[in-house]
Amino acid sequence: MGTSVWDYLAEYEEERDDILDAVDSVFRSGRLVLGDSVAGFESDFADHHGVRHCVGVDNGTNALVLALRALQVGPGDEVITVSNTAAPTVIAIDSVGATPVFVDVRPSDYLMDVGQVAAAITPRTKCLLPVHLYGQCVDMAPLEALAEAHGIPILEDVAQAHGATHHGRIAGSMGRAAAFSFYPTKVLGAYGDGGAVVTSDDKVEERLRRLRYYGMAERYYVVETPGHNSRLDEVHAEILRRKLRRLDSYLAGRRAVAQRYAEGLGDTELVLPRVADGNEHVYYLYVVRHPDRDRIIEELKARDIFLNVSYPWPVHTMTGFDHLGYATGSLPVTEALAKHIFSLPMYPSLDPSVQEKVIDALREVLR
Ligand SMILES: *Cc1c(COP(=O)(O)O)cnc(C)c1O
Repeated sequence: MGTSVWDYLAEYEEERDDILDAVDSVFRSGRLVLGDSVAGFESDFADHHGVRHCVGVDNGTNALVLALRALQVGPGDEVITVSNTAAPTVIAIDSVGATPVFVDVRPSDYLMDVGQVAAAITPRTKCLLPVHLYGQCVDMAPLEALAEAHGIPILEDVAQAHGATHHGRIAGSMGRAAAFSFYPTKVLGAYGDGGAVVTSDDKVEERLRRLRYYGMAERYYVVETPGHNSRLDEVHAEILRRKLRRLDSYLAGRRAVAQRYAEGLGDTELVLPRVADGNEHVYYLYVVRHPDRDRIIEELKARDIFLNVSYPWPVHTMTGFDHLGYATGSLPVTEALAKHIFSLPMYPSLDPSVQEKVIDALREVLR
């Protein structure tokens, strides 16, 4: 079967009794949709972030879409974000009819270069959308200063950074709202799709609850603004609620894997992840850089080790976003990185002896 960047089977063996009990407890509860498990998870997840509200939704893409709509971002509006991200960040902006506006990323940590945001703001800018990519936070203080000065809300994309902190603040607690994904590979993952939006803004929360439920204020069954069905599933909510209690141990596991890579590869030509000032990294992905990326990936594949690239095509170069009009060369750091970055196996239950083989194989092909 070989070694890949992510695998959940060892974790499942370890947690199987609890996961099956979670499923059984929902099936026996008599309430299969929007019951106690969704409400309980929402309450726990809001508390975990020190915010007032959490609204569970069906996936991370829709968490972004509903958050944008709840922030009243729509056609004609501009949203400033990055092109070095998972495509759904940009798809969400596009699907509310708004226009994504890209700034480049920093060569040191591949995160939004906040210094470029001021020049990208126009009278149509209605949201700043930083992505806490790979597991660490964007430099928030200058972004918050701009948001404040221009009266523009920040929506954090926290799909890759559950539990990451930035100068002591937890990712998801810094914007007007924050969107999470619980896709299975994520730092906090369900056994299927899931997502959530957190916010301390009562108005935003009220809109979110309607938007995920056809547009109805739940008690009255009257559609005010037509919405969608974007409910978080009760089974996944119960699993997430239990896994949230283990989040710290998942983070410790990921950091131990990162530490072993640093020890095993620190003296090679690979450029290892750099933790930005004030950040505690949660290593959703362990992204390294080397000019011979494609050769390295091929040679590891021959040794049954399957690496990944996140992401090989910057979003602004994808044909589906041609209409945005970003020529090749317009985001030079993002474009250069895309040719050289790749990801090593990273998940909390990664066996140290398996990791040792990955390190040895890399040292061999880098010689
Ligand atoms: C995974 C991811 C999403 C989308 O989440 P889904 O649950 O897969 O819809 C959005 N943004 C980023 C940065 C992601 O990594």
